[in-house]
Amino acid sequence: MKKLVVIATGNAGKVREFAKAFENSDPDLEFKTQKEIGFTDDVDENGTSFQENAKIKALAVAAFLKSKNIGGTVIADDSGLEVKALGGAPGIHSARFAGEHGNSRANNEKLLRELADKQDRSARFVCHLCIVHENGNVDYVEGECPGNIIQEFRGDEGFGYDPLFVPKGKSLTFAEMSLEEKQALSHRGHAIEILKSRKLLSAF
Ligand code: IMP
Repeated sequence: MKKLVVIATGNAGKVREFAKAFENSDPDLEFKTQKEIGFTDDVDENGTSFQENAKIKALAVAAFLKSKNIGGTVIADDSGLEVKALGGAPGIHSARFAGEHGNSRANNEKLLRELADKQDRSARFVCHLCIVHENGNVDYVEGECPGNIIQEFRGDEGFGYDPLFVPKGKSLTFAEMSLEEKQALSHRGHAIEILKSRKLLSAF
């Protein structure tokens, strides 16, 4: 019997990246999104760190699985952009930087406004994964990707701040790259590689 792994996110951009990352993974694992198992709650991400918020989301979905008597592992991702000249903002508030949760256009426009008079446009994406195993054990993995915020929107791929972010040493934004190219460089791609190399999905 296949082992269920639930990706605890309602963010369609993240769902696409997880699906891609795991498409050729262990054939004994069956990946589903929280939506596919019927989890529709809006989890209050009131933690003070990426790791805490990832744990809040993973535990909420794990509790739902348990309440339905469904066995499986849960992975949650809390991620965001940290900009040096803004003291690490938007950080854990990345999804609602401009006020409304998930309004990427407004978030990006606010970012450009706030950086208008700054010389240093260096930034990094960070991704914290929290894995809750069926036996209740919890693991954490993190990945990051350094880069720079450019002055204008470029590219239509990806999500969130991708049109403004050029990874260090590259000339294209994440939004100008294919999913595979982004994955090879990105914070989420790195975290998922660590998760796979530590065999955290088949450990319990
Ligand atoms: P979360 O769903 O609370 O973890 O919010 C993550 C937010 O960070 C997203 O809504 C995006 O604004 C931003 N973000 C995280 N990862 C990425 C990425 O890979 N590309 C662009 N923006 C990202």
